[in-house]
Amino acid sequence: MYCKNCGNQLDPNAAVCLNCGCAKNVGSNFCSNCGRPVTPGGAVCLSCGYALTPAANPDAKSKLAAGLLGILFGSLGIHNFYLGYTGKAIAQLLISVLSCFTLSFVSAIWGLVEGILILVGSINTDANGNPLKD
Ligand SMILES: [Zn+2]
Ligand SMILES: [Zn+2]
Repeated sequence: MYCKNCGNQLDPNAAVCLNCGCAKNVGSNFCSNCGRPVTPGGAVCLSCGYALTPAANPDAKSKLAAGLLGILFGSLGIHNFYLGYTGKAIAQLLISVLSCFTLSFVSAIWGLVEGILILVGSINTDANGNPLKD
């Protein structure tokens, strides 16, 4: 395999590229299969046809977890805290807490709707624009 950052040939057992110091599978400039330059963001290598999967984002939030949190704990805004939408999360939490939970159905319905939108993919990024993972 080849370094996706600099195109240097990698020892399959090496954790990082000895040429540029990048971790394996980090970078999108070169094909990890043939080592030729590829178009960043391209789906396949034009030289060898190898599918170029985008580097998995270890910080990607779980769509299922966020959706379920919205459905189960929407009145507390937990799913929005999880996804980093802190402003919305605090609004949902405050609606519940400041009304001594008499209005918690408002944020519960709000969270329920958002939870469903997350599960069906209408909301598919977190607050930083990172795609949610399945
Ligand atoms: Zn490298
Ligand atoms: Zn290739």
